[in-house]
Amino acid sequence: MLDLVCVFRKSGAQLWSKSWVPGALKGNPVDALIHHVLLEDRAGAIDVYHTGDYSAKWAIDNELELVVVAIYQRVLVLGYVDELLERVRDAFCGVLRGIAPEGRDDSFPSKGFTSAFDSIQAELELKALEERKLKAANKPRAFTESKKFANTRQGNKESCAVGGKSSASSTADSAADSPMGSAAEAEPAAVEEEETGSGGDALTAEQIEANRAKLRAGGGPPGKKKGAKGEDETSPAKKGKEGRSWDGDEKPLSKQQLDFSKKEDRGAPKSKVFQGKKVDLNERFGDLPAAAASSGGGRGIWASLKGLVGAKQLERADLEPLIEQLQAQLITKNVAADIGSQICESVCTSLLGTSQQGFGTMRATVRSALEKTLTRILTPSHRVDMLAAAAAAKAEGRPYVICFVGVNGVGKSTSLSKVAYYLKSNGFTPMLCACDTFRAGAVEQLRVHANALELPLFEKGYGRDASGIAQDGVRYAKQMGHDVVLIDTAGRMQDNEPLMRALSKLVTLNNPDLVLFVGEALVGNEAVDQVRGFNKSLSEYSASRDPRLIDGIMLTKFDTISDKVGAALSLVYTTGKPIVFVGVGQTYTDIRNLNVDHCVRSLLKS
Ligand code: GDP
Repeated sequence: MLDLVCVFRKSGAQLWSKSWVPGALKGNPVDALIHHVLLEDRAGAIDVYHTGDYSAKWAIDNELELVVVAIYQRVLVLGYVDELLERVRDAFCGVLRGIAPEGRDDSFPSKGFTSAFDSIQAELELKALEERKLKAANKPRAFTESKKFANTRQGNKESCAVGGKSSASSTADSAADSPMGSAAEAEPAAVEEEETGSGGDALTAEQIEANRAKLRAGGGPPGKKKGAKGEDETSPAKKGKEGRSWDGDEKPLSKQQLDFSKKEDRGAPKSKVFQGKKVDLNERFGDLPAAAASSGGGRGIWASLKGLVGAKQLERADLEPLIEQLQAQLITKNVAADIGSQICESVCTSLLGTSQQGFGTMRATVRSALEKTLTRILTPSHRVDMLAAAAAAKAEGRPYVICFVGVNGVGKSTSLSKVAYYLKSNGFTPMLCACDTFRAGAVEQLRVHANALELPLFEKGYGRDASGIAQDGVRYAKQMGHDVVLIDTAGRMQDNEPLMRALSKLVTLNNPDLVLFVGEALVGNEAVDQVRGFNKSLSEYSASRDPRLIDGIMLTKFDTISDKVGAALSLVYTTGKPIVFVGVGQTYTDIRNLNVDHCVRSLLKS
């Protein structure tokens, strides 16, 4: 029934294993578990991990830094695995402690553990078998044997006789009146509540509006508001991004009239002309003073986490009260509610069973664990090195293709232009490709940027199939020797099926090197809904067996959020993809790498 059980150190050293499968398992599920769950701090948040044909469960001893993993076929339901893992972990720890009192000796003679394991397994399998037999013996009565069925039938007969209703309608009535009927009705509401969560956005509507007002005051074009979740872009009620009426003229403008690129550049970031100045992606931006970054300053949440931990091993009861406080702290920083809760649960799980060598405060212990977890989540397991990747594509004689996707008004075309500037200032010759064939004025807006940056623009106007235009654009860039193609796509809400299908088609047909999701740092839960929705649609509507999903994130308007950097954490945690750049203003040079230390300090600052 089991395929593999193994014991290893958190450092990776394997101490013992037993396999029931001749040869290797398909696709290395243990490796997948380590990378996608253990290293990403999700061990406390989920009970079971499914990968390929397998399910994986695990038990951890934090004191000895030991992990026990069981792998079995995904189709199986093995009720005894949790207990098996705990018993094996405890037994292994017991032996390790016996052999090496400090618990740091990896030279345990592992062969000796197999017989101990076999007897635990045999005992639990026998117990599970007996439970199954007992269950079969106490099989619940069929509904037709129950009193409820008898009453219902009786009721049916009565209503037929007294009220003279048809049997069909009386059955419907009795279902609605019966407890089963009301439960069935209550169920969708309960599910809905669970899905939407009760936490709500970390920023209140007023705060978001205030941030947006700040943005508008900072020079952003007025009237560009992002649609609320669930809005249909095509519905007349939606405000969305308005067609550009740059002259304040109410009459629709002709295409020629719409080309404002030679007049004033109200759509372009403030540094209108390509200046050749190199962008320093690591230049400091809005960093916190060192004092705020230090041990927590004794104020706020951290001050309330008192209590000494000495030789005592931490138990759930010690840590449980902290979970809520930590969650609240993260939510104030705009971390999505469910993600904050999963991260805090992971931090607590990682501390269970640990003890301090010397005396320290609970505050320091918890803070340091959270800091490590946040740093680990925000540090990408793989980086997108755009310059190296573009150079590699060039060496292959083809353009490097980046596709910018996201909802309306988040800053897609501004970000595309910043990336174009960055690439150009590093010696590339990017071409902008206008594939927002949906929103009036989008092509002209991109032309404004192209002119300001002195870069070519590939466009075929409006209403045409965007994926075909992208294909033509890439082909044209190759002919003309442009080494990077930056595809601008129409902004769309993640639940707008026709537009999401069109995006999936564009991505599938063109297979870009990088699908860059552009999201605003201003929003909390909403950013996560967006990125999940985009990934879901790219996968579901793709004609490919191996659909392309989002490869990286560009987080805009970072300059407007002060220390509320939670969207960065939520997006990386949700996608497992890196934040390739953050946008820190409205000029072409306002683009940076994400500073992980700065982010972690902001999240921890009370
Ligand atoms: P799109 O509809 O997604 O293409 O959005 P736009 O590129 O037109 O940008 C919408 C607004 O956001 C414009 O006013 C931009 O100047 C502004 N914007 C974009 N990125 C940033 C950023 O990083 N910081 C600030 N403060 N504003 C930004």
